[in-house]
Amino acid sequence: QIKHTNTEEEMNPQPVYERPYDSQVKKLTGKVAIITGGDSGIGRAVAVHFAREGAEVAILYHKEVEDAEKTAELVAAKGKSAMLVKMDVSSEKSCVQSVAKVMKQFGQLDILVNNAGIQFPQDAIENISQAQLDTTFRTNIYSMFYMVKACLPHFKRGAAIVNTASVTAYRGSDHLLDYSSTKGAIVAFTRSLALSLAEKGIRVNAVAPGPIWTPLITATFDDKEIKEFGKQTPFKRPGQPAEVAPCFVFLASEDASYMTGQVLHPNGGEVINT
Ligand code: NAD
Repeated sequence: QIKHTNTEEEMNPQPVYERPYDSQVKKLTGKVAIITGGDSGIGRAVAVHFAREGAEVAILYHKEVEDAEKTAELVAAKGKSAMLVKMDVSSEKSCVQSVAKVMKQFGQLDILVNNAGIQFPQDAIENISQAQLDTTFRTNIYSMFYMVKACLPHFKRGAAIVNTASVTAYRGSDHLLDYSSTKGAIVAFTRSLALSLAEKGIRVNAVAPGPIWTPLITATFDDKEIKEFGKQTPFKRPGQPAEVAPCFVFLASEDASYMTGQVLHPNGGEVINT
């Protein structure tokens, strides 16, 4: 049953053709964002773009502090000081502790980007071990339940969650079976969570990139293979993290205030069957 929690302004029957616009005010000014996997690849680009739009960013990273510091340098160039939190998204305890640290530092939380992910070298189903299955599912999808549960008590109306899915959720991947399965789950999770949080005024959307030059795929595939994936798209090339990050800015910002449960597809023009 839908509960109407909308404000009078939101229920205004008069058409609104333009919202107040101040060229000095950036899209994410005053917002605090957590970005999991913000130390690398797409997450790093999201951190830089968020900072560029005025957000305070907390970078949740897993391994090398040097990687997180590199993101912090890029964020500093945008006039912001990134908070760095070493953690493990596959552990609920670690997620809860990380969110508590961010709350202690900033006293508020407005945006969660569930972006951390892992991909094992491609292999046939017979060779996918129980340990690999556990790690892939815990890191890619259980983590999103943990992070959302940890953040929810701190979210207010207008908060936004953006999840990183993948084109493989839609078209499959002959050998990335465990990985693509988690990405399909992320799309369904995004839609379901969007429905369940709509009445609280919290939006939940996802981004499903195609092949993007990041350590994730360079660790699994060689340059020739990655270029080949790119050639399968209408643009005939892989994309860059900087071409994906603006989707996150849009979905996290007020510009997307009437969107929830949706997926954006920065994938070089590949037509996917939704
Ligand atoms: P990446 O390897 O650069 O980033 C992955 C991030 O996940 C890293 O920052 C890493 O620290 C973090 N991470 C991994 N395990 C973690 C754990 N246990 N705890 C905390 N953090 C952990 O690769 P990327 O391509 O930038 O990946 C970011 C997201 O984009 C992933 O969800 C990935 O599945 C998705 N994606 C990537 C592509 C691509 O072609 N690169 C395409 C579609 C989707």
